[in-house]
Order: sequence, then structure tokens, then C-alpha cells
Amino acid sequence: MQKVSFLKSIHVKLVLIYVLLIVIALQIIGIYFSKELEDSLKNNFQDSILRRMELVQYSIREEMLKERIETASTPTSESGIGAILREFSTDDINEIRVIDSRNRILATSEDNQSMVGQRANDDIVRKAMSAETLQENISLDKQTMQRVWVLAAPITDTVGPNGEVLGVIYIESDIEKVFDQMNEINRIFAAGIAVSLVITIILGILVARTITRPISDMRKQAQAMSKGNFSRKVRVYGTDEIGQLAIAFNHLTNRLQESQSTTEAERRKLASVLSNMTDGVIATDRKGKIILINEPALSLLHDTRESTLNRPIASVLGLDQEYSFEDLIHMKESVSLDFSTSDAPYILRANFSVIQKETGFVNGLITVLHDITEQEKIDMERREFVANVSHELRTPLTTMRSYLEALADGAWRDEMIAPTFLNVTQTETERMIRLVNDLLQLSKMDSQEYELSFEFVEFNKFFTHIIDRFEMSKSKNVEFLRLLPETSYFVDIDRDKLTQVMDNIISNSLKYSPDGGNIRFGFTVHENMLRVMISDDGMGIPKENVGRIFDRFYRVDRARARSMGGTGLGLAIAREMIEAHGGKIWAESEEEVGTTIFFTLPFELDGAGDWE
Ligand code: ATP
Ligand code: MG
Repeated sequence: MQKVSFLKSIHVKLVLIYVLLIVIALQIIGIYFSKELEDSLKNNFQDSILRRMELVQYSIREEMLKERIETASTPTSESGIGAILREFSTDDINEIRVIDSRNRILATSEDNQSMVGQRANDDIVRKAMSAETLQENISLDKQTMQRVWVLAAPITDTVGPNGEVLGVIYIESDIEKVFDQMNEINRIFAAGIAVSLVITIILGILVARTITRPISDMRKQAQAMSKGNFSRKVRVYGTDEIGQLAIAFNHLTNRLQESQSTTEAERRKLASVLSNMTDGVIATDRKGKIILINEPALSLLHDTRESTLNRPIASVLGLDQEYSFEDLIHMKESVSLDFSTSDAPYILRANFSVIQKETGFVNGLITVLHDITEQEKIDMERREFVANVSHELRTPLTTMRSYLEALADGAWRDEMIAPTFLNVTQTETERMIRLVNDLLQLSKMDSQEYELSFEFVEFNKFFTHIIDRFEMSKSKNVEFLRLLPETSYFVDIDRDKLTQVMDNIISNSLKYSPDGGNIRFGFTVHENMLRVMISDDGMGIPKENVGRIFDRFYRVDRARARSMGGTGLGLAIAREMIEAHGGKIWAESEEEVGTTIFFTLPFELDGAGDWE
């Protein structure tokens, strides 16, 4: 948040407004007060001067009229008037003069009497003389540089208008004192204003602080809250509106904290549900952009969160060629996503459900991903198995049918052909019985419905016995090489089942060995297991198929294997058996060089058991 500059802060604004208001108020009061005071002081002064002047006027008129009657020859008597003037002269009057009608100064209150008898040449005196009215003005005394109030009043022989002008009284009063007094009062007033302003500013700052402090406190808290810190509390200074606001703010903080922690808990719950479920979940916004994807979905898609978030769902699922987001929204069935490579099948199933408002407005799409590779594989195997079984049964049955038809058509009478034909049907029947027996055995093993009867067997003896049996009955010119160690090794096995396994392996070797080839038998000890090896110089198996010979019905070359009487179940049964004994079976082969079948068995060195 931007910091409030000092001048723009409420604190300064409040103080400024406060001070400005007080300055304006004081200004108005001051102007009014000093104006009124000045007027009143001036009026008082002037009134007192005027009152005295009237008295002087009266006395001088009397004196002048008396003198006019007494001495007609000498028109004026300066001494009498001078005495009156001196009598009336006070501190606030600088000078009083009396001028006669011929404009000569008759008397003055000044000590210097030299101007008596001279002509008066003041304008104001002449004006008063001619206008016969009182004249006054405020002027500057040139000598003292002080303001004086000058008055000139005509003296008439009768009281009231239309009298003859006898002369003029001229009064110069010291009005400067009034102004001095005024200035003094203004100075005191200004000092008062200054002092009260200082006090006001200090008070203003304090008052503004009580308002702005909680506000800036709340601002700081709001900033802290936006960063997720709810532990701060605003201090409550009082119960006024701001105090109430602070209380409400603290309450709001608590509520926010509560709701934030519930949201957080809900979010965590949802996140843990999403990440702990085995299905992948992807949520999109209403435009189809991914906004949420859980860990299982990422690992199912072999993708990272960074590269999937905000991308269109259809392209992340690899469906953008076939479907648009609109299509996915309206998709009712699940969609299979085939990510299989030539090496391994990998199939996901995606189910879609739309997040919709009551109004029908689509808010987003939830996709649930499920790995169905195993299921698909099992389905495929099952289908393949049924097809294989039907095929394996149909071949001998068709052969038998054609031979039986031939017999029925009359071949039974032919003594040469009939036994051969019957022989073929017998072989085929045996083949079918063997096949069905093999299937039954496998099916029992699949449903764990069999029990192995274990016994302690010395392996060298057991192995030699089986080899001897084959050597005695072999129909081919094949050399048997025994590479068996001297040491006795004891294994805990089901004798019949293991014999079946070894019979199958050896008969395969014999089947696919050329005339004059060798078959090597041996076993070694490897990582605490007995490793048995049966190796031939036969035609071998192509590299890419070596791993598959243990699959049910798998035969490298179907036609030839069948002609050799095989069904392709022998090694599949062998694998089940060896695994049931806790071992492993595998093959190594090179075409035109030979094949080696290995299997392992757990063993013991001494036969502490009850073996024969
Ligand atoms: P069955 O054993 O049921 O009579 P089969 O021998 O054809 O029939 P398996 O023993 O399971 O079936 O063998 C599967 C396939 O593996 C054979 O068809 C053959 O193609 C191949 N195979 C097994 N052993 C050898 C071997 N020693 N040399 C070459 N190919 C072999
Ligand atoms: Mg076989």
C-alpha cells in the first residue's frame, strides 16, 4: 500500500483546518473589535475637546462683546482672552488660538506670545470664517511628526445662525495619544492571538492524533491481514465512534481469521482427498483450461503440473484431434485414452462430469482418470484364450470329422486304409484329451485349487533319474551330456510336478534338436538358489519371442509345432509350477545355435529331513 505523504495526511489536514478556522475567526473578531475600539476612543476624545471648545467659545464671545462696548476705539483686548485660553489649556490640547475677523491672531495659549498680532494664514481658519461653520481635520504636525486634530470654530455675536462673525477659535489637539493607545491595544491583542494560536495548534495536534492514531493503526492491521497475519489487534482508545470502529475492526479480524482457517482446513482436506485417491482428477474452468490437477492424474499422464496447468484439457488428454471442449461437456460415456507404445500397452479411461449451475450455465468440467491397462490386458488375454482354445479344439475335430466321413463313406471296408484312419482319429482324440487335461491343470493353478505334496529330495539323484529315462527311450540320435556337480543338494519339491516340468523342457529340447546334436544337463549354485540348465543345439527361437514361450498357447511356429504334437501349454504350466516352488524360469536362445532353459529352486546342503 502506498504511504500517505505528510502533507496529505488527515492529521495535518485536520490541524490545518482547525488553525485556519481559528485564524479566520480571530481575524474577524480582531478587525471588528479594533475598529469599534478606535471609533469609540476617537469619539470620546473628540467629544471632550468639543465640549471644552464650546465653553471657550462662549467665554470668548462674552469677552469680545464686552470689549467691543467698552472700547470702541481699541477693538480687542488680548490680555482677557489670553487669560481665558490659558485657563482652558490642558495636556491633550497643544494650542488654542483666537483669530479676529480681520484674520489677526488675538491670543494664543502658547508660552511664545510673539505670534500675537500677526496674520493667521491657516486655510481651515479662513474656511471657518467664510463658511461660518465648524471646520475640522486630522493632519500631521510638521515639527513633531505627530498626528493632530485641528478644529476651527467661528465666533458669532449671537448664539445660533445669522450672527456676525467676530473671529475664529483655532484648537490643535494631540490625537496621536489616541492612536498610540489603539496601537498598544492592538499589540496586546496580537500577542494574545499568537499565544492562543500556539495553544490551539498543540491542542489541535493532540486532538487530531486521537483520531488519526487508531485509523493508521487500522491501516497497518489491514496491511498485516493482507499478508496473512491475523495476530495483530487494533488498540481501542475509547468508546467514541472511532473506538467502536476499532472494536468492529477487531471483530472483523477474528471472523476473517476464523473463516480463513476453515477455508484453509477445507482446502487441505480436499487436497489430501485428491492426492490420496488412486484415480486422477482434473478440473477445468468454463473455457476448458485446467485449473486443478492432482498427483495421481499427473503420474497417470506422465506430465508435470507446470506444463498442464492453464492448458486446454482436450490437448492434455491427447483428444484435441477428435473432440472439442464442447464435445467433452456433452460426453455421456467414458473415453479410452490409448497411450500404448510398441513395448507396453497403456490405456486410461476418462469419465467426464460437468459442473453446472441451476440455470444450466457450465462452470467447468471434472475429469476422472483411471488406469485400465491391466483390465484391458486381462480382457484381451481372456479373448485370446477363448479363441486359442476353440482353435486348438477345432483343428483335431475337423481332422477327425473328415477321417470319420471317409470311413463312413466306405473306407471302413478297406483293410489297408481303415486302421490308419482309425489311428489318426485316436491320436487326435488323445491330443484333445491332453489339451483338455493341460487346460484343467492350468485352470486349477489359476484358481489356487491344487496342493503340492512337498518332499525332501536329493536333486542330483532326481535329475539323473529323469535323464536316464529319456536316454533309454530316445528315438533320435542325440547325445546327452551331464554336467552335474558331486555335492549333494537337497530340494523341497513336489516330485510329480517337477518331473512334469523337466519332462516338458527335455522333450522340447529333443523335439527341436537336429540329428546328432547334443543336449547338456547341469546345475550350479547362484545367489542361494539352485540354477538348473537344459541346453540344446537346436533351431533356437527368434530374440524377440524368447520371453513369450512361457505364454499360454504360444508357439514360435504354430504349424510345425502342431505337427510335432505340441499345444503350446507345456512351458506355461512349467512356469506356474516353478513359481509355486519359489523359483523362476527363463530362456536364452539364439537362432540356429541353440536354446537354454534355466530355472531356479531353493535348496539345502544337508538332507536333515526324512528322505530315502
Ligand atoms: P506342449 O509342450 O504343450 O506339447 P509345445 O512344446 O509346442 O507344446 P511349449 O512346451 O510350451 O509348447 O513350448 C512353446 C514353444 O516354444 C514351442 O512351440 C516352441 O516353438 C518353443 N520352444 C520351446 N522349447 C524350445 C527349444 N528347446 N528349442 C526351440 N524352440 C522351443
Ligand atoms: Mg513342449
